[in-house]
Amino acid sequence: MVEETFKHSLWSAITPSGPDLPRLEGEITVDFALVGAGYLGLNTALTLAAEGHSVALIEASEPGFGASGRNTGFVVPTLKKALSPKNAMATFGKPRGEAFSRMIGGSGTRLFDLVREHGIDGAEQTGWLQPAHSRAALAANAAQVSEWRDLGFDVELLDAEATHAKTGMDGYHGAMHIPTGGQVNPLAYVRGLVRACLGAGVQILARSPVTGIERDGIGWAVRTASGRVRAGQVVLTSNAMVGPLCAAVDRSIIPTRSFQIATQRFDAETQARILPARAPVADTRRHLFAARWSPDGRIVGGGLVYPGPGRMARTRRRFEKRFERFLPGLGKVRAEYAWTGTVAITLDSLPRLYRLNDGLWAPIACNGRGVALTTAFGYELGRFLAGRTTEAEFVVPVTQPDPVPMRAFAPIGPYMWLPWSEFRDRLETEAPS
Ligand SMILES: Cc1cc2nc3c(=O)[nH]c(=O)nc-3n(C[C@H](O)[C@H](O)[C@H](O)COP(=O)(O)OP(=O)(O)OC[C@H]3O[C@@H](n4cnc5c(N)ncnc54)[C@H](O)[C@@H]3O)c2cc1C
Repeated sequence: MVEETFKHSLWSAITPSGPDLPRLEGEITVDFALVGAGYLGLNTALTLAAEGHSVALIEASEPGFGASGRNTGFVVPTLKKALSPKNAMATFGKPRGEAFSRMIGGSGTRLFDLVREHGIDGAEQTGWLQPAHSRAALAANAAQVSEWRDLGFDVELLDAEATHAKTGMDGYHGAMHIPTGGQVNPLAYVRGLVRACLGAGVQILARSPVTGIERDGIGWAVRTASGRVRAGQVVLTSNAMVGPLCAAVDRSIIPTRSFQIATQRFDAETQARILPARAPVADTRRHLFAARWSPDGRIVGGGLVYPGPGRMARTRRRFEKRFERFLPGLGKVRAEYAWTGTVAITLDSLPRLYRLNDGLWAPIACNGRGVALTTAFGYELGRFLAGRTTEAEFVVPVTQPDPVPMRAFAPIGPYMWLPWSEFRDRLETEAPS
């Protein structure tokens, strides 16, 4: 069960506790009620409070219990190549495509500015690297770099030698390097945002699963077993766990389980040799190789769960082997922590803002790149809900939930995708000349 793995993560083990939070008891009335305290709920709440609104953020478990407390902590200020600035403008038209791209390109800067402003620990603006496993992948990286640079963002293309110097890894043709990216301790970032929200006057209610939302005069009432929040507007920031609250939103995403491991600790000499720049690495393979150093000297990373019997033990071993293969200087690798989390995926990898009814909203699907994106998207959403920007100016179109075709079969999609992707990756990988 996903629920059982939150406490087994490295981040739960090494992160100081957050503030004590009350449960929802009785009735309160606010301007905005947000359901789900991950990065999106917290960043939206922080922005709405800064705009002078009263906000209640209601969380089923504890803040960060969803993807936000369990992820790898990569701060990635870009999206897949299919969503490069040029493609975003083709999808959304020029003004919105440019606003969307500026949000993505500026998301690393926004996150690290926020972290500095609120004194949040565990964040390192070391840059983010996407090494290319083939000549074609390097050409695609080069095209993206030039599109970001045309928009004024500091993004560069490294050659094979510079890539080796930053990663200590062999076999790559070069890399896209985004200096405004980096890494966070994901749970420390959540708990830092909780403190910032409390300081701004947001009421955060923990251990309060929302069981229903109904019309209440011109606003809404959000119900839990022990209380009710009356609000002018309600925002479902429940991400991949939205299913019990809204089936239509659930049908628009593919909840996909991701597996993470953190290895044994390595000494300072190994840390100086492997990923010496401490920039997290996510390469261009379809089943990408991703790795970073934790603050306590472990390699952390993972990917999709491998299918078949005994899949958790097998997946753990596959990721240990992957670290040994891609980071050969590590020697024998042993996972000391293993956990899973669920990513809400859309087929086109774009985030959405759904208007479910007047004053009832569901933003969703920051896909597997949500650390920086939810930070920036939450800020934009807070400003939109506060009336600072219009619907026409908002970074994505406001739509109705669009169901994923053949959704009933979607959960098996990743299992079929994984062997096919690894096969294609093996075929395409070329040694640099
Ligand atoms: C294993 C893993 C690794 C990842 N690695 C990265 C990475 O390195 N970099 C990156 O950019 N992205 C990464 N991602 C994606 C990123 O973590 C997510 O996109 C992001 O955290 C989503 O934030 P969120 O606030 O939308 O949702 P969540 O963090 O999932 O928050 C939703 C919250 O809603 C609560 N909730 C649900 N239902 C209810 C209810 N009925 N009542 C009250 N509360 C409710 C949940 O308990 C949860 O706390 C990863 C994701 C996973 C799972």
